[in-house]
Amino acid sequence: MPRYEYRCKACGFTFELRRPMSQSDAPAPCPRGHADTVKLLSTVSVASSSTPASGGGEAGAAAGGGCCGGGCCG
Ligand SMILES: [Zn+2]
Repeated sequence: MPRYEYRCKACGFTFELRRPMSQSDAPAPCPRGHADTVKLLSTVSVASSSTPASGGGEAGAAAGGGCCGGGCCG
């Protein structure tokens, strides 16, 4: 099960939660009792430095194959 990092906007506390990917966007309450938290970018093997910026703002959840970009798709 993947781990996700969250930071509380109220007290600045950073904590981790293990939850299924389907719940990665579900709210994660701060262990100290606050509800205003934000999900941090997890370190899930992101190896892209030259992605075409075409108007999207979301943190890339478009991991498709891992072949293209390595030079083996040509
Ligand atoms: Zn807090």
